[in-house]
Formats: sequence, C-alpha cells, structure tokens
Amino acid sequence: CGIVGYIGKAQAAPILIKGLSKLEYRGYDSAGIAVFGDQVQVVKAKGRLAELDEKVKNMGGVKGCMGIGHTRWATHGAPSDKNAHPHTSMNGRISVVHNGIIENYIQLKSELEKQGYVFVSETDTEVIAQLFDSLYNGDLVDTLIRVIGKVRGSYALGIVCSEKPDEFVAVRKDSPLLVGISEDGNYIASDIPAVLEYTKDYYLLNDNEIVVMKKDGVTILDLDKNEIKKDIYHVDWDI
Ligand code: GLU
Repeated sequence: CGIVGYIGKAQAAPILIKGLSKLEYRGYDSAGIAVFGDQVQVVKAKGRLAELDEKVKNMGGVKGCMGIGHTRWATHGAPSDKNAHPHTSMNGRISVVHNGIIENYIQLKSELEKQGYVFVSETDTEVIAQLFDSLYNGDLVDTLIRVIGKVRGSYALGIVCSEKPDEFVAVRKDSPLLVGISEDGNYIASDIPAVLEYTKDYYLLNDNEIVVMKKDGVTILDLDKNEIKKDIYHVDWDI
C-alpha cells in the first residue's frame, strides 16, 4: 500500500502512477488517482497499476498539475474498483487517499448516515471523505484538524477539495508519509523511492503534523495552527 501526491508545474498523473509503481514492493490489490484539472477527476482500478494506466490512457489522459494517488492493501471491504481509493464525498467535493485503519468508522458512518450521507463503498476510508465534507468550512487546515479530532486509528492521508485548485492537505499518524520538495513542485509519498527521481530534499513528518501543499511551497503546522520549522532531510543516494 502506498501514497503519492504532487502539486507543481508538471502534469500530475504520470508522476503519480510512476511513483506508485516504485511503491509496488509494499503490496497492493488496487490503485487509483484523483487529479485536479478543470475539475477533480478520479480514476481507479482493481488489480495491477497497468490496469489503472490503461484506464487513464483510454480516457485520453487525465490533465492537471495537482493530484493524489494510492495503492490499496484492503483491510475493510474486498478488493474492487468501488473500494479502491481515492474515496470521494457524496457531493464530489472532497477526495481522499488513505493508508491505515479508521477504528471508529462504524460509529462515524452511522452518524453521517443520519445527516443524509450515502456511502458507496465498504471501506473505513470513505468516512474520512464524508466527514471532511460535513465539517468543511472553506478552510482545509481547520477542517482537517476537526477531522483528526474525531477519528481514531492509523492514517496517512492526502486530501483534495474541488473548491481549492491551488492546494491540498496531508497528515500522518502511525502510518508512513513524508514530503518531498523541489523547485518544480512538491510531493508527498509513503517512502522516498517514489519521488527520488524528482527530488533529494525531504521533510520527515511526526504524528499529526498538518501539511499544506502548494505549487511554490509547503507549510507544516501543529494542531493549534502554529507553523513548524523543519530541517531539510537531504538524501545523497541515487535511484
Ligand atoms: N483501510 C483502508 C482500506 O481498506 C486503507 C487500506 C490501505 O492502507 O491501503 O481501504
């Protein structure tokens, strides 16, 4: 299972799929991407990354310079197209990739269903998309902090919002995720090999540090929205 995210000057889809292929060693049963072009486009497929790549090619490519990608190792819900990530809120506004397990998803799901949210997958992850949407107040950081306050379990998350073309947010707790930075764009990844082709400069993340990803920079905040200044972790090995 793995996560790759990108925002920058280049087309996101090829970076995401190639990055995910470098994480294949972690194992997976399905894969998917969400790319923000004129709108957020989600493509996902059970099976090998080649199936996803094929779907993307059949659509004539997916255009956009920001996106998140995922390889899934199913914990809740069988491997299928429907259960593959990214998961999207009912209204299409919020799309989420997640590695880990949301332990209290049954309770959260029933609360959201009472509010009228309709679920389409059997995953624990879909509650994050719907919950984020239900709490969304126009600010991705505020909303993510409120989501973190409600979920229990382990997570590495990348979240895009159809109302925010210039940024996405990420966070991790007890699941791996790091940030790669470069002149041409910025990355999130479960592990360095996913994006080593593009950058050797990284920020390592502690639990519940909120990452705001923009084309020209990355901001890391604590849960009180104080900025955290990090040293760059530079790797000097090659691919
Ligand atoms: N628990 C989530 C699911 O089953 C994420 C699994 C993963 O880490 O890939 O969909």
